Amino acid sequence: MIIYEGKAVFEGIAIGKISVYKKQEQAVKRVKVEDTEAEKARYAEARETAISELKALYEKAVKEVGESGAEIFEAHQLMVDDEDYIESAESIIENEGVNAEYAVATTGDNFAKMFSEMEEEYFRGRAADIMDITERILNALAGGGAGGIESDEPVIVVADDLAPSETVQMDKDKILSFVTVHGSANSHTSILAKTMSIPAIIGCPIPLSEESDGKMAVVDGFEGKVYVDPDADILAAKKKLLLEEEEKKSLLERLKGKENVTLDGQKINLYANIGNTKDLGLVLENDAGGIGLFRSEFIYLGSEDYPTEDEQFAIYKQVAQTLAGKKVIIRTLDIGADKQADYFKLPEEENPAMGLRAIRICFTRPEVFKTQLRAILRASAFGKISIMFPMIISVDEVKKIKIIVEEVKKELDDDGLSYDKNIELGIMIETPAAVMIADELAEEVDFFSVGTNDLTQYTLAIDRQNQSLDDFYDPHHPAIMKMLKMIAEAAHRHDAWAGICGELGADLSLTKDFLAMGYDELSVSPGRILPIRKTVIETNVSEYKKEKGL
Ligand code: PEP
Ligand code: MG
Repeated sequence: MIIYEGKAVFEGIAIGKISVYKKQEQAVKRVKVEDTEAEKARYAEARETAISELKALYEKAVKEVGESGAEIFEAHQLMVDDEDYIESAESIIENEGVNAEYAVATTGDNFAKMFSEMEEEYFRGRAADIMDITERILNALAGGGAGGIESDEPVIVVADDLAPSETVQMDKDKILSFVTVHGSANSHTSILAKTMSIPAIIGCPIPLSEESDGKMAVVDGFEGKVYVDPDADILAAKKKLLLEEEEKKSLLERLKGKENVTLDGQKINLYANIGNTKDLGLVLENDAGGIGLFRSEFIYLGSEDYPTEDEQFAIYKQVAQTLAGKKVIIRTLDIGADKQADYFKLPEEENPAMGLRAIRICFTRPEVFKTQLRAILRASAFGKISIMFPMIISVDEVKKIKIIVEEVKKELDDDGLSYDKNIELGIMIETPAAVMIADELAEEVDFFSVGTNDLTQYTLAIDRQNQSLDDFYDPHHPAIMKMLKMIAEAAHRHDAWAGICGELGADLSLTKDFLAMGYDELSVSPGRILPIRKTVIETNVSEYKKEKGL
């Protein structure tokens, strides 16, 4: 067994035979010509052929990988027609009195070299596109024909580098994975591999000779490794992983678009937790009903200084618009404890988890709080936003928050800025104090969302950051279970809804209990939504309650 390591650009496992991709090399010779006009006409004709091929490829790619994945072939058409490129090739034909093949190959080499020496990775990635269109024109000049993989069974395609057109021309059903010796993560081949959901590794020093061709291999797109001639242990381990992956995928596919409703008709909202806008793709991909926890402090943690109102507004607006009317719950900043941003200049504390954090910082720095509230409220005009406040311990705090929210609303009215006048306000229940006064709190707000991570640490007196206490940390502790039941009941007594956004919400062994307690929402990491949906639709809550004597 030999292991080659590269950079993974798309996750997944592939097991199969290697097929070394044979490029259709054009052996270009420099030939003197008399009639340079005829040569230029041949070049013009080859360009036309190349463009009609690219149009056909575009259509094929739209069907297979969608509009955005296909865009590259529109870009290639523009490159074939690029004035600078044409001018360069034509002047070589004219000035040197040479054949079109030589002029095109030279121009392609020069342009590709220029791009590959550019500083920005994006432009360096475009060198492959230049070589791709150059090959295409040369191919047209030679009278056509396409390269490819010679195999009847699906294979792991190993190549020096792959041009986007080569990638898309391949029969998708025959490809298990792409592995390239060169290539950039930014290249369109990587982008296409991702869109096709095929495990792909680049920058992998695998030999492109007979040595590899036809050999059995495992591509691990999680580790970025290729195992050629894998031993029995590796093969068995990777097969197991592959099966798990396939199971997950088919689960995803089958459950998309289904309602989260139990066998006896009880509904629950399954929302996603996110930390930034990069997670939005996953939210949509996993069919989340909304966002139940946007940890807004990540905007602050990723900034060098306090993010401005406009910067925040742009982010919240993007999230609201992407979710297109589905609920987006933005939690106001939960800085402090383990989440430190230098520019806040928070004092050193003996016990930061019980220190100046979250809503306490907002009260002591009202300008920071108001800036965030203005940004959230302004974004609420573009979708369905709710605001949630962390680390609440008293009714007074909630009353104070509501006064501040009203002040900000008034400011926006004065400035003539629109916002959702009926915006929902909720609080996180993550302190034992909040649990004990849940009835009083529920009268003040529209919803509760239980932060089980902090609620467990404060209830069990176990620092959630301290690994050496892991054995003592029992998230299923009966005290926590009792609290969860109390919270949902208190909310419902006062017409508020209740959800869970801590990690426990994703614990499949408790989904039935959460349904039995009457939770209205679970907000979990996007990849957990469909597995929970599966449990929900397989559960009969009234029977479960009878069975458990609930
Ligand atoms: C929680 O405490 O459960 C929670 C969701 O908030 P965080 O993990 O961000 O503290
Ligand atoms: Mg918390």
